[in-house]
Amino acid sequence: MGGVVGVGLPLTDVVRFDMNTVPWQLPVTIAGEPLSLNEYPDGSYRELVAAIAAYCGQPESRVVVGAGADELISLVAQAYLDGTRHFAVSDPSYAMFSIASLIAGASPISVASDATFALDRSAFAAAAARADVTWIANPGNPTGELLPQDYLREVAASARGIVVVDEAYAEFAGTSALDWISGAPNVAVLRTLSKAFALAGMRVGYLVAAPEVVAILHKLRPPASISAVSARMAVAALHQAAGVRTRVRALVAARHRFGSALAATGRPVIEGAANFVLTPVDDATAARALARGLVLRTYDPGHRLHGWSRITVRSPEDNARLLRLLS
Ligand code: PMP
Repeated sequence: MGGVVGVGLPLTDVVRFDMNTVPWQLPVTIAGEPLSLNEYPDGSYRELVAAIAAYCGQPESRVVVGAGADELISLVAQAYLDGTRHFAVSDPSYAMFSIASLIAGASPISVASDATFALDRSAFAAAAARADVTWIANPGNPTGELLPQDYLREVAASARGIVVVDEAYAEFAGTSALDWISGAPNVAVLRTLSKAFALAGMRVGYLVAAPEVVAILHKLRPPASISAVSARMAVAALHQAAGVRTRVRALVAARHRFGSALAATGRPVIEGAANFVLTPVDDATAARALARGLVLRTYDPGHRLHGWSRITVRSPEDNARLLRLLS
């Protein structure tokens, strides 16, 4: 790989602890198979939808695909929000929830998490009761917090509008709202192939919801936003779900080792249920790490996580390098 990053290191020496991606590649390839790239992809993405439905144990009529979960977040905001409407989010939470909602002109009902970044559950449920769209990531990003499914069911039951449960990291946590979504017509489960399936570069996400919600999003969706190559690769990856599960188990064990080793150095650590941990890191330490090619996520003053870093678990060797620097 060519290229040099801003700190003067070749790209091959850079380790991204800041993007919540995984340190493996699935052995997916489409070499040798004919792809008619002079034509547009089939906008119904039939094969991809079928592979996702099978992976999720859901009917195909409940699945809509997008160019990454981010595209689907924008579509939900376009569909259900405007200048007269409100959206509920926790603070901190995934930035795209607010960005897409504010672009749609809606007003936030923001619920501050506590000092350990845990959701204020009763305040959030009350916010959902007033909101046209309720956004919640489970596990949370950047918090890693895993909310019980019973709590999410309660929120859904009392919510005024649609509740988007963003499960970008669900494979690492092992629980899902997909188990109960069929009885909850106002719940949409958002997923991505960017995390456990190791395809962040492919830009494929999907949403599972009642067919009525799926139909609304279909109407707004650009007809062919997922490239034919991405769609084909995604199908190949979904056929490797067993291999993904094995890797996810190893990563969760590595997260636990990394979190415990960090805690053993005396620093506060919030391990969470995703593929990252939270720990305080000051700007000088983050700069020292960056000079060595270890990219850490830091937060601006004013952000709830200022002074902390959300550290993605990478390979055991890379984790050990970072641990030495932080110890
Ligand atoms: N939701 C959450 C909670 C995320 O952390 C991310 C990626 N960082 C996304 C959605 C976006 O996923 P995608 O790559 O599929 O757009």
